[in-house]
Amino acid sequence: MIEILTLSGGIGGAKLVLGLDRILSPGTLATVCNTGDDFEHLGLSISPDIDTVTYTLASIANTKTGWGRANETWTFMAALADLGGETWFQLGDADLALHVERTRQLALGESLSDITDIIRRRLVIGSEIIPMSDQPVRTRVKTRDGILPFQHYFVKHRCCPAVNGFEFDGIDLAQPAPRFSELLTGDKLKAIIICPSNPFISIDPILALPGVCQALRDNGAPVVAISPIINGQAIKGPTAKMMAELGLPVDSAGIAMHYGNLIDALVVDHSDSARLPDTGPRIFRAATLMHSEADKRALAGEVLSIAKSLGTNC
Ligand code: GDP
Repeated sequence: MIEILTLSGGIGGAKLVLGLDRILSPGTLATVCNTGDDFEHLGLSISPDIDTVTYTLASIANTKTGWGRANETWTFMAALADLGGETWFQLGDADLALHVERTRQLALGESLSDITDIIRRRLVIGSEIIPMSDQPVRTRVKTRDGILPFQHYFVKHRCCPAVNGFEFDGIDLAQPAPRFSELLTGDKLKAIIICPSNPFISIDPILALPGVCQALRDNGAPVVAISPIINGQAIKGPTAKMMAELGLPVDSAGIAMHYGNLIDALVVDHSDSARLPDTGPRIFRAATLMHSEADKRALAGEVLSIAKSLGTNC
């Protein structure tokens, strides 16, 4: 029975999800992954955040790059380059197999939820992995140079253009995935954890799905977020740069403001010197920088204790 529900993007989220997966009883953790980063490329359906979480839990992720699989070979990319094909988005040979299989099953009419579940079972992952929606939602980044599809902004343009907003194309027609809705509206959750993921491009697409914010508030389980910012800096990726460009304070106070009364608690690093607001979510301290698996397990344990101290459902 699922007791802990996490909302996650890719790199930062997957670290905490790994810690939780390793310390919780099998079958009690479910992770809802952002699919706003999904895109179609070379005829393939690619779901970067689902794949990062899946590879991480299966212990086959490339932890150096933060994307793709460890011990990859690159025969496909090299052959594609020889043919003059598009090579700006790197696809390793083993990674490619997952995209081919997902694309094949989608073409047969399977849902992204079912495909994701089949793949995680094949990779012997005990925790559930759930796409935020089975309908396509595509993040577009509003920049000074115009509106860019997410992967063009993120990979092709390396996050260089200054950001002034986001659009989640398809969000009005999308529904939360059936399993996500079932867990959110059920009464079995002991905690809802918002991972230390990018709030704007990893978590907001999930929260923007119709009914999700209301269901989070109505669920009754404590909602705990972990700040992805430590002392004004992101550990990886454009979170801090985006906050500055959006005119938000670039610190954990900015994260607290962003989530506002949606969350009951924000966990910030022991070393974080940001001046945190007296109103809004309760602030807790923990060691939130995760390098080793021990760090991930330790933060997971801290977050569960914090949720327990807050929880009416616990
Ligand atoms: P993406 O979808 O691959 O960009 O990954 P996420 O959105 O899940 O994660 C990106 C965020 O994770 C960035 O804002 C990082 O600052 C944050 N992050 C990465 N590693 C850590 C860590 O060890 N601790 C904390 N607190 N945040 C982290």
